[in-house]
Amino acid sequence: PRKFFVGGNWKMNGSTKSIQTLVDTLNKAHLPVEQVDVVVAPPAPYLALVRSTLDSKLGVSAQNVYAAKSGAFTGETSPLFLKDLDIHWTLTGHSERRQYFRESSEYVAEKTKFALDQGLSVIACIGESLIERETGATNAVLASQLEPLAAALTAADWARVVLAYEPVWAIGTGKVATPAQAQDAHKYIRSWLAKHVSPAVAQATRIIYGGSVTAGNCGELARMGDIDGFLVGGASLKPEFTQIVKARL
Ligand code: 13P
Repeated sequence: PRKFFVGGNWKMNGSTKSIQTLVDTLNKAHLPVEQVDVVVAPPAPYLALVRSTLDSKLGVSAQNVYAAKSGAFTGETSPLFLKDLDIHWTLTGHSERRQYFRESSEYVAEKTKFALDQGLSVIACIGESLIERETGATNAVLASQLEPLAAALTAADWARVVLAYEPVWAIGTGKVATPAQAQDAHKYIRSWLAKHVSPAVAQATRIIYGGSVTAGNCGELARMGDIDGFLVGGASLKPEFTQIVKARL
């Protein structure tokens, strides 16, 4: 059985004050960490604050990382900085990075591999746009995003990867995928892994759903067989995040 995983992607939101309030809420929520892995991803300037004040049983993740240890890469975050801060996770390939910062699937795979090689765990994000879904290209797009990852990663690497399926049309739109739509995509991703990586990796890898997840819709989604958790944006900034963590209980 795959352990349920709920991530909170705070994106470019917050302040010292609001983040202290959020951390306080999480610390007091007594989240069921035996049954659910909980990881929050604050903006980079707040990573140290969050790691030093958040309950150590809850994970912290960067939202992005660079594929080098150090050097003349102005503005970037080294995986070594994260390790130094006792932060064990990073996101890669979020659709906003792909869309606004032109990150290709090959580049996302390179960053993912580099982060894994430095000892981090990675929440790697994939997902189709509305036009791709409407033209029936969803599975082909998912395959094209998975291919460079599968080429770069070893079987051992996959043990530290969580795949986030985030259909772009559902992100920040309030238009959540139906449980059947999400289940279909997750099932396709798992079958793709079985064929192109290995059946063992396909069975073991957590595939989480992201896109307008709320306390109201998480229960139904959490009952689908191939949905192993959530990556939550907007609702991760609100008290309802604690209810989403408990979606499967
Ligand atoms: P929303 O939950 O705000 O739709 O964002 C989803 C997301 O992009 C999480 O990474």
